[in-house]
Amino acid sequence: MRTIGHFVDNEPVAGASGRFGPVWDPATGEQSGRVALASAAEVDTAVAAAARAARSWGTASLARRTSLLFRYRELLTARREELAALITAEHGKVPGDALGEVARGLEIVELACGITQQLKGELSTEASTGVDVASFRAPLGVVAGITPFNFPAMVPLWMFPVAVACGNAFVLKPSEKDPSAALRLAELAAEAGFPPGVLNVVNGDREAVDRLLAHPDVAAVSFVGSTPVARAVQQGAVAHGKRVQALGGAKNHMLVLPDADLDMAADSAIGAAYGSAGERCMAVSVVVAVGDDTADALVARLATRAAAVRIGPGTDPDAEMGPLITAEHRDRVAAYVRGAADQGAEVVLDGTGYAVPGHEAGFFLGVSLLDRVTREMDAYRDEIFGPVLCVVRAASYEEGLELINSSPWGNGSAVFTRDGGAARRFQLDVETGMVGVNVPIPVPVGYHSFGGWKASLFGEHHIYGPDGVRFFTRGKVVTTRWPEPADSGVSLGFPRNH
Ligand code: NAD
Repeated sequence: MRTIGHFVDNEPVAGASGRFGPVWDPATGEQSGRVALASAAEVDTAVAAAARAARSWGTASLARRTSLLFRYRELLTARREELAALITAEHGKVPGDALGEVARGLEIVELACGITQQLKGELSTEASTGVDVASFRAPLGVVAGITPFNFPAMVPLWMFPVAVACGNAFVLKPSEKDPSAALRLAELAAEAGFPPGVLNVVNGDREAVDRLLAHPDVAAVSFVGSTPVARAVQQGAVAHGKRVQALGGAKNHMLVLPDADLDMAADSAIGAAYGSAGERCMAVSVVVAVGDDTADALVARLATRAAAVRIGPGTDPDAEMGPLITAEHRDRVAAYVRGAADQGAEVVLDGTGYAVPGHEAGFFLGVSLLDRVTREMDAYRDEIFGPVLCVVRAASYEEGLELINSSPWGNGSAVFTRDGGAARRFQLDVETGMVGVNVPIPVPVGYHSFGGWKASLFGEHHIYGPDGVRFFTRGKVVTTRWPEPADSGVSLGFPRNH
């Protein structure tokens, strides 16, 4: 069986802990490999490599850093099919979706190629007589990233291109469920010419994470994953004096007003709910339909479209939706559908018990559509993270907005309407970090930052874009005077400007 190790100092490193986790092919249900789970000592080795690299990388010229990033972009572009195939093999998402993931990750490499613009400092001349003041951003040193299974390439790419462009060395701890894409990203960085130690990958589970949070040489931790772990990571990092951004889970609502183009709203909701089998932090998992007429018309459209979603393995060129990540997760999602029926939801489509012919052992689930869901039901309250779309009926815009703003999460939301005034009001009223107006999955482009509110993000900074640069750097202000020798004299007074 294939054994997946670590990547440190631009070299593959076999696991030494004796602990391994299974890696599955979700489409066949077979174990395709095992991944080494690092011990604290193995994490220390990777951090030491990063610390050695950070000393010279932090002062490498911007011209050198960006020329390597441009080369990296070319390599990733040339290898995107290979990266997508690795994602499909371990995550299960269909090739078109996997290619989309690589493309969105490449956006951040492109942002990093232009880091020269982001790192330009500020200068005030003659702040006082003969005194200049300059502000600039300095790297932090060694920084770490901990990433989830659902975007095994894109989320690592949200982090390390910005971090290394800013002059840091990086230790990445990818999800142990689908680690190969992250390893390949690091190998390609080595091929692009990044010096040893600038980008290291340590595979592992909680033991590795706990060591990264406690390690005195790790200055900052960027985390993306579920809310309970995000909260714990933020608290652990802060307790050890580290800077941290921890992006958590979500329950994203799409508010559909009576004047919306319902065909467009239904098309959008289907893609946003069932794409990647609902395993997206920006998936739309709740449609809030305003008015029963809107709800009836929308549910009819959703049901027709959902029933037509083609489910299959990545090897089926017509498949639009793949399997879930593990058998346990599939069963957990199915339990929510059954529980919703017990709690009084109307099950319009029941995807439980679905099997793909020839792939009966794969972790597939059909699509489920639940109508008349209420806020008390578990299917509404929890992040299901599967192909289940809930429809909640609201009597008015105000009632729909109140529901959305009562959610403990605040990642994304969307409004579908033809009324510009209503859309404008929604974007001001809604308590989420990212808002779509007739856009179901409003993931910001690379040069704007990504982040939610409330239990969807712990920490001050959003990820990538301008906030990403601020997160991975710290400010320094230099006040300079070159006086004439004759002006020199002792003064014990507090410096005043004149
Ligand atoms: P997860 O929280 O289980 O795992 C994320 C990372 O944390 C992994 O690397 C994992 O090894 C590690 N981890 C798991 N349990 C841990 C523990 N107890 N202590 C320390 N580390 C631990 O998340 P997942 O299931 O891999 O990913 C899905 C979740 O991520 C969903 O909740 C989804 O909404 C969220 N997500 C959020 C965003 C966002 O931008 N807000 C993006 C993608 C995914």
